[in-house]
Amino acid sequence: MYQGSGVKKKIIIVGNGFASLFFIQYFLAIAVFPVVLGRLFRRLYSRYELTVIGTGSFIYFPAIPEFITGKKNTQSVTIDIRPFLKRRNIRFIEGKVTDIRDGGRSVVVDGATYHNDALFLGIGPAFLEDDIPGTREHTFSPCRGPDDMEAFMLELDAMERGSLYLGFKINKLDGFVAGRGGQMYECACLLDFVLKERGVRDNFEIHLFSPDISPGETGAITDRLQERGIILDYGYEPAEFVAGGMRDPDGTLRKADLILYSPGITGSRLVQESCLPVTAGGQIDVDKFGQVRELNRVFASGDCAAHDNPPPWVPHQAHMAQLRSQAAARNLRAVLKDEQPKHTYRHELSCILNMENDAMWLHMADDNKPPFWNLFPRRSKKLISLKNLFEKLYLFYLRYL
Ligand SMILES: Cc1cc2nc3c(=O)[nH]c(=O)nc-3n(C[C@H](O)[C@H](O)[C@H](O)COP(=O)(O)OP(=O)(O)OC[C@H]3O[C@@H](n4cnc5c(N)ncnc54)[C@H](O)[C@@H]3O)c2cc1C
Repeated sequence: MYQGSGVKKKIIIVGNGFASLFFIQYFLAIAVFPVVLGRLFRRLYSRYELTVIGTGSFIYFPAIPEFITGKKNTQSVTIDIRPFLKRRNIRFIEGKVTDIRDGGRSVVVDGATYHNDALFLGIGPAFLEDDIPGTREHTFSPCRGPDDMEAFMLELDAMERGSLYLGFKINKLDGFVAGRGGQMYECACLLDFVLKERGVRDNFEIHLFSPDISPGETGAITDRLQERGIILDYGYEPAEFVAGGMRDPDGTLRKADLILYSPGITGSRLVQESCLPVTAGGQIDVDKFGQVRELNRVFASGDCAAHDNPPPWVPHQAHMAQLRSQAAARNLRAVLKDEQPKHTYRHELSCILNMENDAMWLHMADDNKPPFWNLFPRRSKKLISLKNLFEKLYLFYLRYL
């Protein structure tokens, strides 16, 4: 039984991405703190002392594909999260956690050790960049963040012709979609759009490859790609990325002028090397309540943590991070009061595929509930405005509330 430390319980949250910020939102008694009053309220009434350890910069990853159209850039997707934390009277430590010890009770940051009564991990993904040799040296990826995408765009803007290859791999070892397929489809369609706008589309080949899609696969996404003349290299996996292209398994060189590639998702070095239990796929092993297995009062959600008994179609998504962090926050509150955790989360794939001249709402849920009570069409260019509205609202919340 957990007795607590008497005074305010110390909760450490590692990472300042979607999972951690949703965790904070659901853990605190009230969700918004627009003015100093909120901070005062937290100071007087909170039973918990919260500390976030991270970079201090939040990245809104879902907007990164739109670097291609020039509508988003590094500045517009990056937010200094310190004021958000300050409004909530949450202590912030800038740094990288390099070890977790004592069953989760101690975390090490740049040589200093911090103790806690409870720990939440929202440390995001790592990518299997050693899976295909040459990935680091010869590919760009939206998953590495805004700088890498800006670098990709610089190269593209200097090109008048060439062959562009976009691809992804999925880590299926944990039984769900630990990879970024949807994002790469979106990038391919947006590339088609901007090259047409520039009047140079006919000078380019755009290929979409993935060993995780069967050749001959059909469906709405394939239809959208084919409508745009995107060449489908379904089933293809290069043996190596090399200067000027990709080496096929039989040794042939496939010419590619620019490659945008997303490797499968796994857990970071911290997951592999600390006291955390690790799944076959390399992610943090959590139960359906978000509790890290074998450890007490340690929770994890988002891209760092495997799903427990997932349907095979469920991905890692900001949207899933929200549902998981909500359950984890409620369960941690229960555990800190010596109650049993009981909150689970729905599995739901939900995202709007922005093609700039068209859009589709990709959706799947284990309870078959439609998104937003079916208020919106599943295919319409208007969905782009809706996607932008979600982004604006969330960034406004982070900046001001
Ligand atoms: C191009 C792209 C488009 C996407 N589009 C969508 C979309 O349309 N819809 C959707 O729902 N999802 C989308 N996603 C997925 C979504 O962005 C992720 O699922 C989401 O970011 C996961 O949140 P997270 O908090 O787990 O990880 P992250 O957002 O990656 O945050 C992890 C945090 O942990 C910090 N951290 C890592 N290691 C340490 C450490 N050792 N010590 C301290 N801090 C650490 C990082 O700095 C970061 O702050 C997209 C992703 C990409 C790349």
